[in-house]
Amino acid sequence: MKIAVIGYGSQGQAQAMNLRDTGLMPIIGLPPKSKSRSLASKERFEIYTPQKAIERCDSAVILAPDHKHRDLFESIPPRLLAGKSLIFAHGLSIAFGLIKPPSTCDLILVAPHGPGVRIRELYKEGKPFTAFWGVEHNATGKANEIAIEYAAAIGCPRQGLFKTSFRDEAIGDIFGEQVVLCGGLTGLLETGFETLVKSGLSPENAYLECVYQLDLIIDLIKSHGPAGMFERISKTAAIGSLDAKDKLFDKSMRQKMKKLFGEIESGRFARSLMRESETGMKQYKRNLAKLKKSKLQKAQEKMGKRMAGRA
Ligand code: NAP
Ligand code: MG
Repeated sequence: MKIAVIGYGSQGQAQAMNLRDTGLMPIIGLPPKSKSRSLASKERFEIYTPQKAIERCDSAVILAPDHKHRDLFESIPPRLLAGKSLIFAHGLSIAFGLIKPPSTCDLILVAPHGPGVRIRELYKEGKPFTAFWGVEHNATGKANEIAIEYAAAIGCPRQGLFKTSFRDEAIGDIFGEQVVLCGGLTGLLETGFETLVKSGLSPENAYLECVYQLDLIIDLIKSHGPAGMFERISKTAAIGSLDAKDKLFDKSMRQKMKKLFGEIESGRFARSLMRESETGMKQYKRNLAKLKKSKLQKAQEKMGKRMAGRA
């Protein structure tokens, strides 16, 4: 299998390095002015334009940002895709019709669970990771085998693969990151932290109570389930928390989650992502700048320095 890795960011770099260590020497596809070219050439990969890389491969792994898939596919003449397998790490651009590759190529999903650095670390430690996989279109007749072979080559063995569709992966992944893992969690930490600070506790105190011990609780939930976690904390913590959980996550919270799910499922979020991309990511930059100035961020920076012995 001759593989082209298109994009060399978080996933691109990790997957390209894992493929190389497995013995499949991938080539890299990046636009001529891409900032990532120097990083890929430092690692001594052969770099081509996306078009040239796709011409030279059997399978192209599309690891450019989702909001750039449209530009990328506009630069590739459809005839070059005939008989090729396109492998995606996220279902969004296909599920919501942001791109429409020709019916002459395979559309395969291999979506690892974890950021690139983690995928690389686990591979180096010889530990398997999990991924979703699926086939939207099987033009070559070999798409299933190619998906499984590709996943194994980046470090995800057969038992770590969970079958899904592009649509379900896209909706589930986006909902999970927005509502639970990234958006929801940060909002919960921030709101809890601010409530304590506004009530007179010091930011250090609020940070230690609301954020610092998060990994310990998550480890307990991952190892023993939510009930197992409650069984392992103090009775004071367990009795109060089980009650507070139901008060916080009441009907109105569920309705808000359902509304966010609707925005994702209907394609509204995918359209707003494209609008953001076309207008210079203004809202994203504004929101991130605000978070960088937040009391919670400052408390983390102070605590990080103190624990590193620099303050
Ligand atoms: P990323 O870190 O933002 O890197 C994107 C790479 O693509 C960069 O090297 C960028 O180059 C390059 N690029 C930009 N425009 C391009 C174009 N038109 N043609 C070719 N390359 C282009 O992206 P990522 O987070 O790895 O995400 C890649 C894919 O993996 C996405 O589909 C994402 O949803 C999926 N995924 C990501 C994660 C994760 O944790 N990051 C996890 C699972 C799945 P420049 O340096 O020039 O910008
Ligand atoms: Mg995602």
